[in-house]
Amino acid sequence: MSQNPYEMALTQYDAAVKHLSLKRGIEAYLRVPRRELTVNFPVKMDDGSVQIFTGYRVHHSTARGPTKGGIRYHPAVTLDEVRALAMWMTWKCAVMNLPYGGAKGGVICDPKRLSLQELENLTRRYATEIALLMSPEGDIPAPDVNTTPQIMAWIMDTYSMQRGHAVPAVVTGKPVPVGGSLGRTEATGRGVTVATREALGWLGRPVQDARVAVQGFGNVGSVSALLLHEAGARIVAVSDSRGGTQNPRGLDPRDLVRHKREAGDLAGYPDGEAIDGAAVLEADCDVLIPAALEAQLTAANAERVRARLVVEGANGPTTPEADQVLEAREVLVVPDILANAGGVVVSYFEWVQNLQSFFWDEEEINDRLIRLMVRACGEVSATARAKAVNLRTAALIRAIERVAEAQMILGIFP
Ligand code: NAD
Repeated sequence: MSQNPYEMALTQYDAAVKHLSLKRGIEAYLRVPRRELTVNFPVKMDDGSVQIFTGYRVHHSTARGPTKGGIRYHPAVTLDEVRALAMWMTWKCAVMNLPYGGAKGGVICDPKRLSLQELENLTRRYATEIALLMSPEGDIPAPDVNTTPQIMAWIMDTYSMQRGHAVPAVVTGKPVPVGGSLGRTEATGRGVTVATREALGWLGRPVQDARVAVQGFGNVGSVSALLLHEAGARIVAVSDSRGGTQNPRGLDPRDLVRHKREAGDLAGYPDGEAIDGAAVLEADCDVLIPAALEAQLTAANAERVRARLVVEGANGPTTPEADQVLEAREVLVVPDILANAGGVVVSYFEWVQNLQSFFWDEEEINDRLIRLMVRACGEVSATARAKAVNLRTAALIRAIERVAEAQMILGIFP
């Protein structure tokens, strides 16, 4: 990764606080994570050996409530990446006005090289290590890159074993039979779809026939593609870590999901033309949805983005340099902390349902999610107009204002 995500997060933060008159102490406090845990832990491998893994859990701000944020399994995880993701979670929860602070976790590992048993061993041991920080009242993890509902179930079970009873509210994104919420798996993609529709509306364009390219075909990317396809958009290019496929007449995301499941990749999809993964970012399209990792749109390729609208399914996909290039070229960017907030919104609903032991139907969940997304999009767009700033800075202004206000009310103890 060429750019350090934490430096990106700080550059974005500094750009937004210029528009706020924060007290110097508050401004300095919100620039840093409140607490960081590094864990080195052993995992029993299938061949009888023991391997040592390193993981992190970072809490950025706790001013507005317990911390919330996913856990990532990836070979390139670093403490700075987890710090950035934790900070973005604080802002995301605040933009959506959820009563949460931000956190993130990660383990340096390549889950594709672990057996199911090794994955379970790693997860249960990591969960035990971070149980110092994790609880339904204090810090509630969720899925992120390469972590699944099954992994969330192992985390819940590991925590519950120490309590002697089920504690579903300790983690969200669980399978429905163990207290997960209906609609959670699709929530981030559904939110991305709402944000895309709203932003196209600002540009005076309908979703119908909008040409969409999606980088990353995991949870966020594939659901976004499916729902936008259902809404009448045309998915013209998609990619995953192994390559991509394009078809200007439109790809069928359901068929792509099936093909990826059976063949393991997208590049060999028979109804499309194989393309290099990076080419998807430069595809001829109206809407680009980066839904993979950080720092994908950079000074090196932002000039070649052909979309009119970028909707950030991923966290931190656009570097600050690329932001400048895109803004100068009048490409509208709906920032991550707004565009992909659907996941944490329904995670919040899942946690509320767990605490109440009272479950809602899917229609209610989706309706509430859509309402919150539409409201937040409207608020951020109004702030952008009022302050004459781009949508990222506008979203950050709203978020930082809310967190700073809470922190000011709480004061400093002792
Ligand atoms: P995932 O593991 O389900 O999917 C990630 C996808 O990205 C995979 O298809 C992988 O092959 C692909 N990918 C990786 N490197 C790539 C590359 N260089 N080029 C193209 N594709 C590449 O993860 P996810 O949960 O869908 O998360 C994706 C992004 O969305 C991350 O930035 C994550 O932080 C963010 N996000 C996730 C959620 C959620 O609820 N899962 C919520 C908000 C934001």
